[in-house]
Amino acid sequence: MKTPIDIAVTGAAGQISYSLLFRLASGELLGPEQPIVLRLLEVPQAMQTLQGVVMELNDCAYPLLQKIVMTDDPKVAFDNIDYAFLVGAKPRGPGMLRADLLKDNAEIFRVQGKALNEYASRRVKVLVTGNPANTNALIAISNAPDLGPDCFTAMAMLDHKRAIGQLAEKCGVISRDIKNVMVWGNHSCTQYPDLHHAKVKGLDALSLVEREWFVNEFIPTVQHRGTEVIKVRGQSSAASAAHAAIEHMRIWAHGTEIDDWVSMAVASDGSYGIEEGLVYSFPVTVADGRISIVKALDLNEFSLERLRLNEAELKEERQAVKHLL
Ligand code: NDP
Repeated sequence: MKTPIDIAVTGAAGQISYSLLFRLASGELLGPEQPIVLRLLEVPQAMQTLQGVVMELNDCAYPLLQKIVMTDDPKVAFDNIDYAFLVGAKPRGPGMLRADLLKDNAEIFRVQGKALNEYASRRVKVLVTGNPANTNALIAISNAPDLGPDCFTAMAMLDHKRAIGQLAEKCGVISRDIKNVMVWGNHSCTQYPDLHHAKVKGLDALSLVEREWFVNEFIPTVQHRGTEVIKVRGQSSAASAAHAAIEHMRIWAHGTEIDDWVSMAVASDGSYGIEEGLVYSFPVTVADGRISIVKALDLNEFSLERLRLNEAELKEERQAVKHLL
């Protein structure tokens, strides 16, 4: 039997985790041979709900699930972990300003960054899902100097999958027929889902769809998909977010396909003129656990303008939390 791998999930009593935890426990991330320990972090007031989730996990009798740790202490949650899904974040309350949301969440990610720095495995892979995800990841990075930015990412995978879903539907193909879609920038309505290098069954996507559809339907649909799901379903998109989180980590662990890339928010190295250090979604490839930004893609003025808008928004977010960096 292999040594178990410790996986931390924060916000473990929340909606996304309610889908995520059961899939992790069944082995979807690390495969059917790899036992795991789940270390679940919650705020004290959510502990009873978490207790109920843990009862259900136990009731599934997953053969790979060696142990479950429930805690409200980040030190305990992050002890020697190899994977961290940082899902927990404070939602925007009625009348709350975006700046206040940024500050409240920044404090959570400052504390968690420090705890990861001190207690996590030195090769930990951290995925920030809790919003505002890019800036929360930036704060965690700033508070984890011994780990370094390569250990941290924020989630753009759901946006990436949404973009593939929309294009597949438009072209009447299945998702496997689509390659090289990308989503740039911030996980917000400013994000830029880009089809300029996308292929459908090997053909240029933009030669198969009208430019008008790309600009006036595809881009806004992907940007506002989360709001639309809430409108139609009455609740936020928890199952698809959990799926995207697992896909993101699975690809980080096992690599991208040879002829494709995915979108992940990582610390910028200055590529495409994006200020170094900002956590920004780029097209990336992954091999041996290392994430590399896809370099030197040709970008037209339409795309560059949208990249710059995202950079400006992320700089504003950074400004609102600069005291924690
Ligand atoms: P969810 O599980 O639905 O969402 C969690 C976070 O993921 C939110 O910030 C949410 O942002 C974000 N998110 C990112 N992408 C998506 C997406 N596509 N669809 C939906 N959400 C997305 O929230 P709940 O309120 O159900 O659960 C949050 C839990 O976190 C609570 O149990 C709370 O107690 C806990 N918490 C834990 C903390 C900790 O462990 N220290 C700190 C703070 C909270 P958005 O709000 O924009 O939808």
